Formats: sequence, C-alpha cells, structure tokens
Amino acid sequence: MHIKSAEFVMSNSNVAKCPKGLLPEYAFIGRSNVGKSSLINMLTNKKSLAKTSGRPGKTQLINHFLINENWHLVDLPGYGYARVSKSSKKVFQKFITEYFGLREQLVSAFVLVDVRHKPQPIDLEFMQWLGEHGVPFSIIFTKADKLKPNAILRHVEDYKTVLLEAWETMPNYFITSSSNETGKDEVLAYIDALNNN
Ligand code: GDP
Repeated sequence: MHIKSAEFVMSNSNVAKCPKGLLPEYAFIGRSNVGKSSLINMLTNKKSLAKTSGRPGKTQLINHFLINENWHLVDLPGYGYARVSKSSKKVFQKFITEYFGLREQLVSAFVLVDVRHKPQPIDLEFMQWLGEHGVPFSIIFTKADKLKPNAILRHVEDYKTVLLEAWETMPNYFITSSSNETGKDEVLAYIDALNNN
C-alpha cells in the first residue's frame, strides 16, 4: 500500500467520542519509549504525525489519524511508564479496556515490543489480556537496526518460546526499524490485505 495521505483527526480519552462511521481501524500500542511514534511516522511518511515522546507517558489520549481517506490509524498511549501516578494509571486502564471492549471498527491491534529486550511481563500480560478478550493482534518488534540479524532471530525465538507456553500458535509478527524502514512494506501490505478482505 502506498500512503497518499495521513491526517490527524482527533485526540480524546473517551471511546464514545472516537470518530463515528465504519472505517476500519488499526491500533498501535506498547510500552513508553518502544518506538511507537517513530514507527507511525515511518509508516505514514510523515516526520511528526505522531509526537515522539520527549516525556514518555505524558500524553494519555487516543489519537486517530485518517489514512488514504479510507482507514484509521490509532495511536494509543504508552503503558508501563513508572513515573505515571497511580490514579492516572487507573484512568489509563479504564479507557484502554473500554477502547478494546467497545470499538467495533477495530480490525487489529499491533503490540510493539523492543526487539532488544527479553519478553517482559507487562507486554505478555497485555497480550494475554487481548487474547482473553478476543482482540486480534500482531506483534511488531521495533528497533531492529540495533541488533545483528542472528541476535534478532534469537530474541524472536525467545518470544516464541514464552508465548507458546500460553498460546497454541505464535501471533503474527513483524520485525521493523524506523531508522532504516525495515518491515514498513510488510506492515502496510498486511493492513491493505485486511482492508480488502
Ligand atoms: P514512543 O514513546 O514509543 O512513541 O517512542 P519514540 O518513537 O518516541 O522513540 C523512543 C526513542 O527510541 C527515541 O529516542 C527514538 O529516536 C528511538 N527509536 C525509535 N525507533 C527507533 C528505531 O527503529 N531505531 C532506533 N535506532 N531508534 C529508534
């Protein structure tokens, strides 16, 4: 898929106020600093569509972007940032669970994980939660330019081993780098295929 247009639509923390209509949407979520904003900007060919986070965890909003006038890309807040207060964590959890529970337009989520790290409980718990709630998702490994190819394979294998303890199959996954555009075509082709289903 070629991205011809990418426009900011709205930010809010209330699922009921998200865009009406039936455009399919894809939500990107992951731990703060995982490289989510950089990935969104890379996918959409924009330098600063999503704000790269100088202060991780600050923006706790659901951000909708309209892509090619026929689907929505959704930038969800980063989770697991230690400096977020307990009360704001609660609010965050509430609207994230509401988003995944109520948003009928959601076709698939993309859970981003930094390819350099071993499987982290917070990411595994989140994927487990998505699975239990019937939310389809793929994993996007980020920052692949920071590892050699064999180290990437090893880290992905570690993930597979852990996930296959709980799941029958490994979720669909992509290996990406926003620095050198690895994985860009694959992620966009995947979304394109789902849109045309
Ligand atoms: P977010 O908090 O998940 O939105 O993460 P950002 O996109 O703001 O990225 C966090 C940090 O990781 C920034 O310093 C980015 O420059 C860096 N980063 C993001 N993606 C990549 C990548 O693919 N490769 C490398 N080397 N650095 C990245």
